[in-house]
Amino acid sequence: LQEGRLDGTLTAEAQAMLDQIAAAEKKAMSIQETRQSLPIYEFRDELLEAIAEHQVLVVVAETGSGKTTQLPQYLHEAGYTKGGMRVGCTQPRRVAAMSVAARVADEMGSRLGQEVGYSIRFEDMTSDKTVLKYMTDGMLLREFLTDPELSTYSALIIDEAHERTLSTDVLFGLVKDIARFRPELRLLISSATLNAQKFAAFFDDAPIFDVPGRRFPVDMFYTQQPEANYIHAAVTTILQIHTTQPKGDILLFLTGQDEIEATEENLKETMYALGDKVPELIIAPIYANLPSEMQAKIFEPTPEGARKVVLATNIAETSITIDGVVYVIDPGFVKQNNYNPKTGMSSLVVEPISRASAQQRAGRAGRVGPGKAFRLYTKWAFKNELLQDTIPEIQRTNLANVVLMLKSLGINDVLNFDFLDKPPAETIIRSFELLYALGALNHKGELTRLGRRMAEFPVDPMLSKAIINSENYKCTHEVLTIISMLQESGSLLYRPKDKRVHADKAHKNFIKPGGDHFTLLNIFEQWADANYSQQWCYENFMQYKSLVRVRDIRDQLAGLCERVEVIIESLPNEIIPVQKAITAGYFYNTVSAHYTFSTSVPLSIYKSHISGALDDKGEGSELTLQARIDKGGGYRTTKNNHSVYVHPSSCLIGMQPPPRFILYYELVLTSKEYMRQCMPIEGTWLSELAPHYFNKSEVEQMMGSAGKVKMPKQVAELKVGPVLA
Ligand code: ADP
Ligand code: MG
Repeated sequence: LQEGRLDGTLTAEAQAMLDQIAAAEKKAMSIQETRQSLPIYEFRDELLEAIAEHQVLVVVAETGSGKTTQLPQYLHEAGYTKGGMRVGCTQPRRVAAMSVAARVADEMGSRLGQEVGYSIRFEDMTSDKTVLKYMTDGMLLREFLTDPELSTYSALIIDEAHERTLSTDVLFGLVKDIARFRPELRLLISSATLNAQKFAAFFDDAPIFDVPGRRFPVDMFYTQQPEANYIHAAVTTILQIHTTQPKGDILLFLTGQDEIEATEENLKETMYALGDKVPELIIAPIYANLPSEMQAKIFEPTPEGARKVVLATNIAETSITIDGVVYVIDPGFVKQNNYNPKTGMSSLVVEPISRASAQQRAGRAGRVGPGKAFRLYTKWAFKNELLQDTIPEIQRTNLANVVLMLKSLGINDVLNFDFLDKPPAETIIRSFELLYALGALNHKGELTRLGRRMAEFPVDPMLSKAIINSENYKCTHEVLTIISMLQESGSLLYRPKDKRVHADKAHKNFIKPGGDHFTLLNIFEQWADANYSQQWCYENFMQYKSLVRVRDIRDQLAGLCERVEVIIESLPNEIIPVQKAITAGYFYNTVSAHYTFSTSVPLSIYKSHISGALDDKGEGSELTLQARIDKGGGYRTTKNNHSVYVHPSSCLIGMQPPPRFILYYELVLTSKEYMRQCMPIEGTWLSELAPHYFNKSEVEQMMGSAGKVKMPKQVAELKVGPVLA
C-alpha cells in the first residue's frame, strides 16, 4: 500500500490486495451471518448452561438446525478445548464427517486438518493442533482400544443418534460407562427428532434439550400405480419438475453409486437431446466414495436461471443438508446390509424404507420455503407396506467385529452388555462360534493371542485372520494387496457407457488363474509397476482414486502388521499358498457345486465331476447327486445348503469344468443371491484350515466320496448313465 501514488490512486497490486481483504471480510461476515441465522443459534447460551449443569444432555433439533456444525464450535468458544483437551463429534457416515469438518474449518477460518480435523477409517486428517475432531462412530470405537477412558476429550457429541448404526449403538454403552468415572466429561447425544425419550431413559433420565425447527409445509404426491422401474420414473419426474415447476433445486434419493451413475448418464443424455429448449440442469451426485473435491459441488449455490438436481444416497436424509432444495423425489428404497443369524449370512439388499425415513426425506423439501415431495410409490403402499421405523442395525447385522472389540476391551459378558436395544441372542452366539472357529476365542470364550492381534486391524475378523495367517505361508505381501483391493473392489473398474466394450476388453486382460482375487492382485501390481500413474489408470479403464485409496489402505494395514509383529514376506506368482491363507480366514464364505444338467452342453463336460461321485455301478453319494440335479444350477453354501450363484462379473463364469468349491468375498442380492469376488478352492482345505468348524467326514461327504447310495431316479431319467461309463 505504501506504493500508493501521491495523487491518491493505488497501484494495481495494492488495489488487488485491498479487494482481496474486502472479499475476505465479506466472506467472514456472511459466514458469521449464516451461523447466526441457524435455528440453534438463539439457544446457544441456554445450551451451554445446560451442558455445564448436566453431564449428559440429549439435544433434539431438525436436520439443518446447526447441531453438527455449531455444537462443537460453541463448546470450543466456551473453553472446553483449553489445556489441550479436544471435543469429538461422531458421524455415522464418512462423507458427512469429511464434509462437515471442511465446513467448520471454513467457518473458523482455519485449514482443514489443523484446528478442525476429521478421522475416518484409513484416513486421518488431524494433527496435534486439532481441537475439534469429527470422526466416524467406528473410529471413536477404535479409540477405546488405545485409550479406554478417552482421556483427551473434554466433551463428546454422539451425533445423528437417531441413525442407530451399529457403532453408535455400541458407543452408547461405552460412553455411558466412562461418564461414571469421568465426572467432568460432557456427553451430548444429538438426534434429528424421534426416539429422544429412549436416549434420555438410557442415560439415566438425562434432560432433553429441544430446539424448535423452522419448517414450511410440504405437499405430498404419490403415484397411482406402483412403478416397475423407479430410475426411469425418477428421470421423468425430474424433467417434469424442471419444465413445469418454479425455481428450486431437486433432491433425488437413490440406493448407491451404480444407480446414481446410471441416472446421471440417463439425465445427461436426455438433457443433451433436448438441447437449449430447456434451461440448464446442473447434476450433482453425492455418495460415500465420491472424491472429496467433487463433493463440494452439491453445496455450490445454483446460478440464476439454472436448476440443480442432487442425486444422493441416504446420506442426504439427515447427515447432510443441501440448501435450496424445494423438490424431493423419493423412490422409497435404501441399500442395507441384512444378516440372517440362522444361516450366518449377510448380504447387501435394496429394501423399502420405513415410514419414518420417508417423512425425513419429504421434510428435506420444506427448509427454505414451501416444498413438494414426489413419492414414487402409492399412498396405499406408504400406509400398508412400509414399516413404521427402520430396524436398528444392531438387530440386522453380523456382530463378530463388535464381539471381538468388546472382548479386547475386557468386556467379557457380551450378552449382558448395556445395549440400548439388545441384539438377537442368536446373532451373538453365531459371532462366538465364528470367532472360536477363527481361533480368536478359546473354548472358554476367552480372547486368544491371535484374537488380540486380530483386533488391531480395522477390518472384518475374517480378513484380519487371513492377514495374520498369511505369515505361515510367507505371502503376507500378496494377501495384504488382495485384502486392500477387496475393500474397494466395488468401485475399481471404470466402465463409461460409450466405451463399455473397450473397458470390458481392457479389464479382461487382467484375469489371472486362481480366481478374482488374483485378478485384483494383478491389477494392483501392474499399477505399482507403472509407478502408480494416473495415465495407466486412464489407459486401462481403472478408477485412479480407488486405486490410490487401495494403496493408502495397504500402507496402513502393513503398518499394523508391523505392530502385531507379522513379517511381510512375498511369494510372487504362487497361487496355492495365497489361496490357503485367505481360506483360513474366509472358510465361512464357501460353497460347493450343485449342477443342472443343461441339454445344450455335451454331457462329457459333466463327466469329470460326476465320475468322482459315482462308483462303477453308477451309484454315488446321495448328497452330491441330489445337489447336482437340483434345478437352477449354482452353488450351495457349505454349512447351510443355501443356494447362491457366481456373479456375472466373476472370472469363474464359464470356467470349464466349473470349480467344485468356491470361496467368495461378499453376497449381493439382486434377482438372485450372487457371490462377488470368487476364488476356486479345494474341499479338503476346509477341514485342514478350519478344523474347529468343519470336520473331516462332513467335508468328505460334501466331496461325494462317502455314504454311497443308489443313484436317484432323476439322474437315471436324464440318461447320463452311458456317458459316465
Ligand atoms: P444439523 O446437524 O442440525 O442437521 P448442520 O450443522 O449440519 O445441521 O447444518 C447447518 C447448516 O450448515 C446447513 O444450513 C447446511 O447447509 C450448512 N452446511 C453444512 N455443511 C456444509 C458444507 N460442507 N458446505 C456448505 N454448507 C454447509
Ligand atoms: Mg447433523
